[in-house]
Amino acid sequence: MNPGDRTVIQAEIETEYDYWMDLRKHEEEYYKEKDNIAQKVLGKLEEFYPGIKAKVEMIDVATPYTFLRYTRNYRGAFEGWLMTGETLKMPVPKTLDGLNNFYLAGQWVEPGGGVPTAVASGRRIIKKICYNDKKDFVTKNHGNAGNP
Ligand SMILES: Cc1cc2nc3c(=O)[nH]c(=O)nc-3n(C[C@H](O)[C@H](O)[C@H](O)COP(=O)(O)OP(=O)(O)OC[C@H]3O[C@@H](n4cnc5c(N)ncnc54)[C@H](O)[C@@H]3O)c2cc1C
Repeated sequence: MNPGDRTVIQAEIETEYDYWMDLRKHEEEYYKEKDNIAQKVLGKLEEFYPGIKAKVEMIDVATPYTFLRYTRNYRGAFEGWLMTGETLKMPVPKTLDGLNNFYLAGQWVEPGGGVPTAVASGRRIIKKICYNDKKDFVTKNHGNAGNP
């Protein structure tokens, strides 16, 4: 993604929404904690790649508050339901009683979330609509556009 000899390293850490929402009320402490975490992660990276610390040009720390601010997603969730033994078996309704011709698709109605799941969810709904309308569900191959 980067020109020349630069690159991006992304580190993901599990965390709690409430903690960050509380901390965000104290702006200075919030930014201090983000910086603190960035330095800790850098410290760990330094153990694997000695000298990396001095070469870092830019750092960006996103918290659940950041995801909430950008996406308005429930509790800053970035991929909908976490995939667990429980959620995998969880049936999520995709219609609403009393509202005809209305369907839900996307990360909140398919455990696991993410772009592929959201796209597959939309595909399943279209298939269901075709079935209800007694139409054949036909897909077009647009080539793989570089994707496998
Ligand atoms: C920082 C970040 C990184 C991610 N990285 C990845 C990744 O690498 N790979 C991956 O697979 N997934 C990733 N995800 C998750 C992925 O982006 C989501 O799971 C996916 O986009 C969900 O698609 P969706 O269609 O369900 O919801 P969305 O893409 O959130 O679409 C919902 C749409 O509904 C609109 N909307 C909301 N309310 C209303 C309303 N009342 N009226 C009209 N419109 C409304 C919103 O504006 C939005 O456009 C990432 C998410 C985040 C936040």
